[in-house]
Amino acid sequence: MTEKTKNKIIIALLAALLAVIIALIVAIIVVIRYNEDIANVSSDIISSDVASNLDDNQPASSDASSSKIDTPSKPEIFVTPTGVELDANFGRLLLINADNPLPDDYDTKVREYLVEIDDKYRNNDYVTQIHKDVYPYITAMVAAAQADGVDLQVWSPFRSYAVQNDLFQRQVDRVGGDEALAATVVARPGTSEHNTGLCADFNMAQDRFENTEMYTWMCENAENYGFILRYPKDKQHITGVIYESWHWRFVGINNAKLINELGVTLEEFIEMKKFDPTIDMYGDDSATEQILD
Ligand SMILES: [Zn+2]
Repeated sequence: MTEKTKNKIIIALLAALLAVIIALIVAIIVVIRYNEDIANVSSDIISSDVASNLDDNQPASSDASSSKIDTPSKPEIFVTPTGVELDANFGRLLLINADNPLPDDYDTKVREYLVEIDDKYRNNDYVTQIHKDVYPYITAMVAAAQADGVDLQVWSPFRSYAVQNDLFQRQVDRVGGDEALAATVVARPGTSEHNTGLCADFNMAQDRFENTEMYTWMCENAENYGFILRYPKDKQHITGVIYESWHWRFVGINNAKLINELGVTLEEFIEMKKFDPTIDMYGDDSATEQILD
């Protein structure tokens, strides 16, 4: 064997050894990564199990202290596509319906919490105000929809008792004087969410809203801005109100996501969580962060 041939064999052996070492290193890395993935999946399952257990019948009083620690995965801040930062934990869960009317003086007291909605977000000059707690969320939502090329606009936000009474009486006339029947379509003054400024009708208060791209967009995105479809199909026996595709209520981002996840109405959610329906009556200084699991 010549010296040249010997060198060739040694080089070939070294190359083979190097290849084996590289293959071993790659195999070790793959095994480590795989184990890490398994560990992550397991901890995800554990934390979501814990979270869903906490969901069940947590008394309202313990929410604020415990759930923040137990569910760190809930986002605190949502940054909208148009760059607005929204507090995901803030919410308003005041329940208004025929069984839970507002006090008579609410109509006067709520005025100090109302702000004017800029006309680039609305298509109605008759009613133009919204609760200031809701303002950053509703304007961010409309701006995001418009940035997506969807012509979402606020049609009817806050309504005073006087405006509500006017609408209610018109509905009573429309149904031949049957007040109870009229109330399933237009709420009596003091029993309408519109009297709080925490909700809005969008674009039009008509059934055909359901067939618009605005409605489709809302179904996909409204919860990211804290809004829920307040009067869903087949829930009239719970809400007392007909299905209204155009009527959306602000409850807060994390609340909206949880309500949608549970597939419940606001009535059922308040009941489930054992909240006082008058929670955060006026908002602003009385509003607390609704930290829910
Ligand atoms: Zn409405």
